Amino acid sequence: MRLLIMGPPGAGKGTQATQIAATFGIAHISTGDLFRANLSQGTALGLEAKKYMDVGEYVPDSVTNDMVRDRLNHADAQAGFLLDGYPRTVAQVTELDEMLGDKALDKVLVLTADTDEVVARLLNRAQDQGRSDDTEEVIRRRLEVYEEQTAPLVELYSNRGILVSVDGLGTIGEVAARIHSVLNA
Ligand code: AMP
Repeated sequence: MRLLIMGPPGAGKGTQATQIAATFGIAHISTGDLFRANLSQGTALGLEAKKYMDVGEYVPDSVTNDMVRDRLNHADAQAGFLLDGYPRTVAQVTELDEMLGDKALDKVLVLTADTDEVVARLLNRAQDQGRSDDTEEVIRRRLEVYEEQTAPLVELYSNRGILVSVDGLGTIGEVAARIHSVLNA
């Protein structure tokens, strides 16, 4: 099973992605988590990524694509994976298509949530987790960047006939149940 989960920041992607990957026994590949892991280990890649993450911009493709290509080659991704937060631009879709070759994505899950709700959730997360990119100003910029650069991917994958959309509003359990019903369909 080769899946992608997408949706605006704060829609609950990370939480749901962890559960989906565990249920289906596939690798959870989150580019945001990979950047944060690099940063906590103080690698050059992590320090480079931080410059962009801290202001709500996307990390350049020259860094991001190679990191994903490498991660997809790990043994645990061979039986299937759930990509979380990649691709985020049309150019990254082209790059991913090339990485996957004839093993294309089976489904793309988009979690929907309205802007006020996601801003409120992200501000809460800022208090709980202290992520440096969860200040209100950076949150607003991340939402703008999502609309400009990532939202077009919804139509792109819809045109390929692999898009499924799930309402991200509700409790974690309610949203998870919706996701399972569309993935098992
Ligand atoms: P996330 O944890 O998915 O919200 O990602 C946190 C931040 O990491 C984003 O705001 C971007 O700065 C960066 N990032 C994650 N995935 C990508 C990507 N596919 N392309 C560029 N930047 C990314």
